[in-house]
Amino acid sequence: MSGVASSEVIVQEEISTKGDFGVSNVTEEVKEQLLNVGVRMAAAGLVMGTWGNLSARLPGENLFVITPSGISYDVLVKTDLVVVDITGRVIEGDRKPSTELTLHAAIYSACAQAGAIVHSHSIYASALAVAGKTLPPILEEQVQLVDGAVPVARYAQAGTVDLAAAAVSALGQGKAVLLANHGVVGLGSTVGEAYQVCLVVEKAAQVYILAELIGQAAVIQPGDVAAIRKSYQTSYGQRV
Ligand code: 13P
Ligand code: ZN
Repeated sequence: MSGVASSEVIVQEEISTKGDFGVSNVTEEVKEQLLNVGVRMAAAGLVMGTWGNLSARLPGENLFVITPSGISYDVLVKTDLVVVDITGRVIEGDRKPSTELTLHAAIYSACAQAGAIVHSHSIYASALAVAGKTLPPILEEQVQLVDGAVPVARYAQAGTVDLAAAAVSALGQGKAVLLANHGVVGLGSTVGEAYQVCLVVEKAAQVYILAELIGQAAVIQPGDVAAIRKSYQTSYGQRV
């Protein structure tokens, strides 16, 4: 499988909560974003089959929406998505929620800044996770979006409370974590941003492995990491 296509790096989507926009419309918009990003994540090769999962908080509520367990992204419809509270209790929906419900709930509880979570099983990031190797800061967009190094959580079985604890502990207040022998978790303020984090982690993992094959990967030093972060936060894009 080839790496991530650069055309897949997307413009961040924002959830509109302004004006007369009611809560139910926001919920519908969040659900649409989850379906849309799920299809793109599968098409980009970040997951195969039914693996991986996505969720997003409902703004202003202690609730989030999560994908159901074991249903292909290409057939998912809004009514398949499940609304749960922050403890993982089902509030709305007939489907069984993702087996990683506890992982998502634990991350939302620990990370106030997380508005959405994308869990992928992409190839190169999984290779690092199998080797137990941290992804060091090596690329501009990785440092801009993910803050720097991406740690590997200790091994725990998929779908368990233990995995949730391992992931939260390794993640800290970061934006991405590798799950040993498993995959990636990316956080964002929106579903689009969390997906972009997973895309950038996958690209950086691929470049890191290739660089190590032909020589030695040069890691971006802490002072340069801080400078890249500052410039991204203050002047990147269409900011004036
Ligand atoms: P679900 O289909 O239950 O979301 O599980 C997929 C997965 O990636 C488990 O880690
Ligand atoms: Zn998984």
